[in-house]
Amino acid sequence: METAEGGCRCGAVRYRVAGAPAATSHCHCGDCRRMTGAPTLAWAIFPEDKVEIVAGSLTVHETSPGVEWGFCARCGSTLTYRRATRPGLFDVTTATLDDPELFPPDKEIWTGERLSWIRSNPAVPHFPKTATG
Ligand SMILES: [Zn+2]
Ligand SMILES: [Zn+2]
Repeated sequence: METAEGGCRCGAVRYRVAGAPAATSHCHCGDCRRMTGAPTLAWAIFPEDKVEIVAGSLTVHETSPGVEWGFCARCGSTLTYRRATRPGLFDVTTATLDDPELFPPDKEIWTGERLSWIRSNPAVPHFPKTATG
């Protein structure tokens, strides 16, 4: 199975993913904004057992119970996300892959929270909230 790697800006935390993501998305939600300082955030969502931390360790911040954001405590890069109400999946931030072109987002989600000065990509489907409603 093909693997890809990614990591934080300072190099302390590195991860490896195997195979193709179960889903991809480009998120406009307010949580992604606050957690990254960026206007949007792209995600590649993998089965939990296909994501491995290969160097360093994630520091986890819970934005609400069971909602875990993983980041590098040294440089602050936001790297991962997982949620107890969606077991078995582990998201990595597409832009922290060594090759962010590998898994381009195939949909935009939470467009209801999109900033007015961010253009949407007309080539992909849009969802006002999550892709499943
Ligand atoms: Zn770092
Ligand atoms: Zn989001």
